[in-house]
Amino acid sequence: MKRLFPVLLAFFLVVGCCRNQRHSRNPYNLPIANTMEMYLEQVAENPDTQLVDLEEIIPGIALYIAYATENNFTGVPIYTSPKAFLCRPVAMALAAAQDSLKSIGMGFKVLDAYRPYAGTLYFYKVYPDTTFVASPLSGSIHNRGAAVDLTLIRLDTGQELEMPTLFDSFSDTASHTFTDLPENVLENRALLRGIMEAYGFHIYEPEWWHYNFTNARSYPLRDIAFEELMK
Ligand SMILES: [Zn+2]
Repeated sequence: MKRLFPVLLAFFLVVGCCRNQRHSRNPYNLPIANTMEMYLEQVAENPDTQLVDLEEIIPGIALYIAYATENNFTGVPIYTSPKAFLCRPVAMALAAAQDSLKSIGMGFKVLDAYRPYAGTLYFYKVYPDTTFVASPLSGSIHNRGAAVDLTLIRLDTGQELEMPTLFDSFSDTASHTFTDLPENVLENRALLRGIMEAYGFHIYEPEWWHYNFTNARSYPLRDIAFEELMK
């Protein structure tokens, strides 16, 4: 027993350490896939849960991933690459929507898509208001790769259409219920909403830029870094 004691102690220290590490990444014990092994198992079981690179599904899609820059409400880059991933059916629906927008010379500019759960934890720490930042208790639809933040651009100039606010303006003006806006801005917001709803997306009332896909909560929560997905 004397000789066993240090071995047991080491064992408990190691297990305790791993537990703490896991705990800090997932403090509410949510069913989150946070290893590539878990992710690949989910994809093998249900290919619809595969996170696909939006630039591969929609060649030429305009991206401005604010969270890969300092130009976001946290003031620091959250992602190490300006990439956009969505679960396959969500990306396919967005591709079909972009296709139909082309006929009127418009396209999307994607501002955010899949977000690893670690990002949601950090956002809440910086801005603990669950109207504009998802509660880490439930996770964000972005963590499921089933939500997208986006705006509209003119395809010929790449210029953004005027919308009620800038992206991530945490204000009443960002809400779909806010109507004290110039006519063209109301039309632009309605155009984005119309095209998104036609392709299976649903508004999130407080944010004009955020859309959830149908059955969004059926997609699993993930905490897999972009770099892992890009391998
Ligand atoms: Zn969003």
